[in-house]
Amino acid sequence: MGGHHHHGHHHPHGDPGRDDDGEAVGSTGTEPATTVADGVLEIDTLLGGWQRVTAGYLVTGDAPVLVETGSQSSVPILMDRLGQLGLGPADLAGVVVTHIHLDHAGGVGDVARAFPNATVYVHAKGARHLADPTRLVDSAARVYGPLLDSLYGRLDPTPPERIRVLEDGEEIRVSSNRSLVAVDSPGHAKHHLALHDSLSGVLFAGDAVGVKLPDAGVLRPSTPPPDFDLDLALGSLGRFADRRPTALALAHYGLLDDPTDALAEADGTLRRWADVAERAFRRGDDIAAALEAEFAGDLEGVAEEHREKLEVMNGVHSNAAGLRRWLTTRESVGDGE
Ligand SMILES: [Zn+2]
Repeated sequence: MGGHHHHGHHHPHGDPGRDDDGEAVGSTGTEPATTVADGVLEIDTLLGGWQRVTAGYLVTGDAPVLVETGSQSSVPILMDRLGQLGLGPADLAGVVVTHIHLDHAGGVGDVARAFPNATVYVHAKGARHLADPTRLVDSAARVYGPLLDSLYGRLDPTPPERIRVLEDGEEIRVSSNRSLVAVDSPGHAKHHLALHDSLSGVLFAGDAVGVKLPDAGVLRPSTPPPDFDLDLALGSLGRFADRRPTALALAHYGLLDDPTDALAEADGTLRRWADVAERAFRRGDDIAAALEAEFAGDLEGVAEEHREKLEVMNGVHSNAAGLRRWLTTRESVGDGE
């Protein structure tokens, strides 16, 4: 990776002659972005006004691509920050979402409108929901309740002609020496893909590796309803490891620069959560209570305000509901053992 890059903000076209406007190690929330790898800018999209909960990433080159918009409620801050980075309305070439949950894709319709040259990239199983979000927003309303409008916002439709489906292995060209390779990675959701940056080696992992908020410090799996599937999720972790990324970029939140260890930890943690859930399920016990009893100790010493962020983003009840649904579905299709 380029040794002249430091943490700090950069023009997206990366003019090295103007790389002198001050270096802030660690985002204070006032910098528009933090450089986390060569030509990769992490943008804090401040869901709920919280720092370090939802990240978007701008991959720079002559055709810059944004990975994740965050929720619709994050669009004003995202637009501000892209503007501060020097990105005019004609400049963004692409926006890709790892999956269509609203904390990742809620801003896509707004971003597509503001950047008319940007192609919107999405998994095949998510495309129709970006074009017509009615059903997606209805089901989000059931899952999020009042938080839909108070925290996330909704999702504006994207004109179908702006949407490009990414099949596994397909590439988005960012510059002559840089592309993002799509990695089909179901498990967290069936419409999940990761993006592997050919230049920096960073793998944008969405939610497939789990959630590790820097302020909580604990990696937890993210197993929400209705799609969560353990075998698919473990398979996706294996596919990530096979690609030997140099780092993992989590949507929640930031860069993990020890990918081999992090993927092994994610695999082990996911199996433990699934095992605790399955034993509770077989006993007829409450899965959320069992998970709470087993894993609450992970958060010992974490301040209440940071626990609250984790609870909203990756709550035990959401994980329990996804695990219960997975166990129930697996049983009903008869391949439970
Ligand atoms: Zn998420």
